[in-house]
Amino acid sequence: MEKIVRSEAEWRQLLTPEQYEVMRRKGTERAFCSPLYPETRPGVYHCAACGLPLFSSEQKFDSGTGWPSFTAPINPQHVLYAEDTSLWMRRTEVLCARCDSHLGHVFDDGPPPTGKRYCINGVALKFVPKEG
Ligand code: FE
Repeated sequence: MEKIVRSEAEWRQLLTPEQYEVMRRKGTERAFCSPLYPETRPGVYHCAACGLPLFSSEQKFDSGTGWPSFTAPINPQHVLYAEDTSLWMRRTEVLCARCDSHLGHVFDDGPPPTGKRYCINGVALKFVPKEG
């Protein structure tokens, strides 16, 4: 995957303050605040920073957590993983493979078929509903 590399000043220009805090400073949006949490229409969730397709409505499920949740990415090559030991927890961070923006975390308590729960900040996603 060809990387998109920008300076932090450029990201600050391109992103909203909320997006910048989550995607470039690894923040977490408040639970139940994203309009994409209850979103159920068919469509594709893209990286809010670079537009790469990341998740499909077909893998979205209601986790009850307050954050958009998926059992798998739309393409395994479109996300990267990193160990995150902040806040005295051991978690697996999920990042956009093209622009390295922080998206959220993945946990092993998801539903079938993968058993994974990708817990993603809605502010890091841009939803494009399927037409028709
Ligand atoms: Fe991206």
